[in-house]
Amino acid sequence: MQLHLSPPRELWPSLAARPALSVVDLFDTVRPIFESVEQEGDAALRRYEERFDHVLLDDLRVPAETLAHAADGLDASLLDALRLAKTNIERFHAAQRFSPLIVPTAEGVVCEQHAVPIERVGLYIPGGSAPLFSTVLMLAVPAVLAGCREIVLCTPPDRSGQVHPAILAAAQLCGVERVYRLGGAQAIAAMALGTESVPRVDKIFGPGNAYVMAAKQWASLHGVAIDMPAGPSEVEVIADATCVPAFVAADLLSQAEHGSDSQVVLVAMTEAVAQAVVAEVERQVVELPRREVAERSLANSRILVLPEEKAVVAFTNFYAPEHLIIATERPRDLAQQITTAGSVFLGHWSCESAGDYASGTNHTLPTSGYARAYSGLSLDSFQRKTTWQTLSPQGVRTIGSCVAEMADAEQLAAHARAMRLRMASVEELAVSEEDGAIEAIAPLVRPNIQALAPYSCARDEFDGGNDDTVFLDANESPFGEDGLNRYPDPLQRAVKSKLAPLKGVRPGQIFLGNGSDEAIDLVFRVFCRPAVDNVVVLDPSYGMYEVCAGVNDVECRKVPLRADYSFAAADVLAATDAQTKVVFLCSPNNPTGNLLPEAEVSAVLRDFSGIVVLDEAYIDFSPGSTWRTRLDRYPRLILLSTFSKAWASASIRLGMAFASETIIALFNKVKYPYNVNILSQRRALQLLEHPERIDAEVQTILGERERLRVALIGNVLVQTVFPSDANFLLVRVADAPAVYRALADHNIIVRNRHRVTLCADCLRITIGTPEENDALLCALRDIAAETTA
Ligand code: PMP
Repeated sequence: MQLHLSPPRELWPSLAARPALSVVDLFDTVRPIFESVEQEGDAALRRYEERFDHVLLDDLRVPAETLAHAADGLDASLLDALRLAKTNIERFHAAQRFSPLIVPTAEGVVCEQHAVPIERVGLYIPGGSAPLFSTVLMLAVPAVLAGCREIVLCTPPDRSGQVHPAILAAAQLCGVERVYRLGGAQAIAAMALGTESVPRVDKIFGPGNAYVMAAKQWASLHGVAIDMPAGPSEVEVIADATCVPAFVAADLLSQAEHGSDSQVVLVAMTEAVAQAVVAEVERQVVELPRREVAERSLANSRILVLPEEKAVVAFTNFYAPEHLIIATERPRDLAQQITTAGSVFLGHWSCESAGDYASGTNHTLPTSGYARAYSGLSLDSFQRKTTWQTLSPQGVRTIGSCVAEMADAEQLAAHARAMRLRMASVEELAVSEEDGAIEAIAPLVRPNIQALAPYSCARDEFDGGNDDTVFLDANESPFGEDGLNRYPDPLQRAVKSKLAPLKGVRPGQIFLGNGSDEAIDLVFRVFCRPAVDNVVVLDPSYGMYEVCAGVNDVECRKVPLRADYSFAAADVLAATDAQTKVVFLCSPNNPTGNLLPEAEVSAVLRDFSGIVVLDEAYIDFSPGSTWRTRLDRYPRLILLSTFSKAWASASIRLGMAFASETIIALFNKVKYPYNVNILSQRRALQLLEHPERIDAEVQTILGERERLRVALIGNVLVQTVFPSDANFLLVRVADAPAVYRALADHNIIVRNRHRVTLCADCLRITIGTPEENDALLCALRDIAAETTA
């Protein structure tokens, strides 16, 4: 192994050089093979098999019977190993499934990107000295997961016409049925052109010798895609003083034994490490069955001693290794700076062999510096992306003149006409309100939810039935007092029809939930794709928005309120992007207590094209007016309301969402059946008989809020009492944690908001009964006296 101590940069190109990889010279050999296969089909294939693989074949395809029994002759332990490897490869590749992108780019214009499988794929598995059955898993598993309809596998037979049983067993395990005894350029030509027995494919995958590579390149000039150019395998190991020299040596040798042209590079961060590794290599190489191959490869391998981390990173990015093992103390720090490696193995326990076989990553990787531009195989390699777009009449209005203008300028009159004809027709169209709502909402809904069949409870159709109806449809007990044996859902109709006139909405615009918290969760389930979409919330605001985002694996972007607890629509809009599905606003806001400026809420509704949730839990305590009456104007608006506050019924856990019928139908589709229990619904019906009752209680609370505010200002512990439009006061004291504890010692529990943004040293105090408020004031006076004494 050649040792280079801190080689200057001028030497890097020669140190990073690979054997020249020109397959163009081989085109003269490959071209006639393609021509014969094209003209003679199977007959040409048989002839080339005889010439190159020295076998006379009758049937090119491996019989189904042989495939079915391939595993019989294998060791049980090898079969178990294959199964475990397959499971891991499946896990990692299944997780790469692409979530469709659905992006409303302008009003009435929706652009989408969907993944579709490549219909027919060809997998090439080289023969030669070792049966590469691991490559069968690496190619076939993602092909099957991607949904490729036809999978063809070619691999050269031995002189008796047999394919190695491990290759067949792996193919069979993956569900590949079409296996052909074909090797070399003729196999590639067969898959690229199609013959009587071999189907033509759309994309060819897999490694091979120089002839196979040349044939793949030639095929790519003839309308077939290929996975990537490939040369001899290679590894770079970065090792610092924490490395285990025996491990590093074994890793280098595991690459060297592949072939005499394999590339092995060690970047040692000290000279001592380099020497220790060399000693280990010398000790281990003599024990290898493929010692000669390994030694020839080692003769061309390089050791660089680069003590500076910066140089290590720069050289590695320059070399662009297929495999990179980072055997250092903090491998992640280095890995984050590497931009060109095919696959990276982090830490002392992660050997390349793990990735070659069984960890789950794909081992088909770009070599020869192609890692600068190519990725290794993944699920994506077996799919294509198709874009969709939908323009509604509004979309024609929004971008029509832009399109026509550009077409005019490019002097493409027919292009301009295609749009202008539509622009003229659209003028005559009136968009119905319902169409408008469906059109605005449909692109925002998660595709899997959109595709769900609505849960149907047949009993809803009978509206709870009449006294004579016999219900034997839901496996309830027929016995029970007071109807408690029955599932409760039909009753929701009654609650909604009572609520609707009171709230000034249609029954179809009401969702009833197990607290309004349930509606918050459903917003995520309906609109936000986990790990893809995001929501924007104000900070501080009600904590459940962030909690539900976390539970649903949706990014929660926090926009700080202004110092006076108001907010600017511009700040919210600046935090949104194409993946922002929902903005949560809470007015009056918890914990700051203030109504949000209406003009800013309007601006968000106008300029943000996703869902706006406006939480009106505390609206009854404020001079502000509800947005319920404006729902028809804003099909993307969802209002939250609850029986837990002004309705004095927190214990029944009944919350409401008001929104367009389209959104409420989606909520009802994803909610669990019977989500609100019957006792809560009955209680709600009672409460709704006398809605006027709550007015008196709200007035008392407002009176108490004012009394408490004035009294608190008079307490020396209190620095600020923030104005409140809710049934609580946010109060800044000298030391919130201390006052909180002291109040708790007096048996009074308030909410400590000290750690919340903009609320340092703040307590949130709920307005209680006059007696409870007196108790609070009295306790605070005592604490003040104790503190100042
Ligand atoms: N929204 C806000 C702003 C709240 O403060 C609360 C509870 N404190 C809720 C919703 C939850 O209400 P429910 O009891 O209906 O789940």
